[in-house]
Amino acid sequence: MDPKFKRYPLANGPEIAALASQLAAKHFPDGRVEPEVLAEREGIAFSYLPIEEDSDGFLVHEKGRFYILCNNRMHPRGSPRSRFTFAHELGHYFIAQHRDRLLAGQWPAMYCRTEFSSTDLFEMEADCFASNLLLPEKAFRAAYAAEPATGLAKVTVLADRFGASVSATAYRVIGLDLVLPPAAVFRWTNLGESAGRRMSDDTAQLHPDYCGLVSRPPEGSLTARCISKLEIGHHTGITPVTEWFPKLTGYDQGADTMLVEEVISLGHHGWLTLLYNEEVQLSRFGGIPKVIKNLPVSQIDTDK
Ligand SMILES: [Zn+2]
Repeated sequence: MDPKFKRYPLANGPEIAALASQLAAKHFPDGRVEPEVLAEREGIAFSYLPIEEDSDGFLVHEKGRFYILCNNRMHPRGSPRSRFTFAHELGHYFIAQHRDRLLAGQWPAMYCRTEFSSTDLFEMEADCFASNLLLPEKAFRAAYAAEPATGLAKVTVLADRFGASVSATAYRVIGLDLVLPPAAVFRWTNLGESAGRRMSDDTAQLHPDYCGLVSRPPEGSLTARCISKLEIGHHTGITPVTEWFPKLTGYDQGADTMLVEEVISLGHHGWLTLLYNEEVQLSRFGGIPKVIKNLPVSQIDTDK
């Protein structure tokens, strides 16, 4: 694989992933990771407050003690996003360079935006830690392989099992290249504007200049329709690969390939789209005319 398309865009991503995975395996060998328990074992105090700041939480160091504050104004204690935020703050504690900055007084208090909503390097590193702590690669791969559901249904089951959000779990699925390329996950605001995306490594190789092409979902796509008509819930369709990936290179399956497009509303978090090339699922419907665009799968007679 071209090193340009490595799994971790962060230079020290592999080390952060290994650190988080080791902590998960050591403290929670058989079950779901509980970030609060890890904090207690490290002597880190914490609390939840409905602070007005536009911040998910922060970690401070004062008088020789570390302290995590989680903002529960939007995300109640124990919710998937709150668990991710807590794990993110633990990242600032466990990643040596972050902790050293706190100890040196270079961060009086860091107001965090978590779960892949920030492009700040330290925030991305803490998100990387949180993802690997809550969704440890080995356990996640095993659970993914054992779960018979597909697509977003599978993501939802795994999110519930690991106590992570649907978004964080979908990012993990794409980040670990667990679905066939081309594959990507997109998050949208309630106004339909891009709020984050991730391609699988394999997809990035096929479409190196993809970033910047999708500030909004393609016009006429299932995602665009669902957002504009507020069709909340979970929707599945099929779409030509070129609709979302117009500049694929080195893709030998041809531009007439159809992808599965799944859309789900996330309440005040907006919307999420999962795109993947699921040959097995498509083959179940057999002989889909390529002119069909975004036909909801439920309308296809699978007995034929
Ligand atoms: Zn942070």
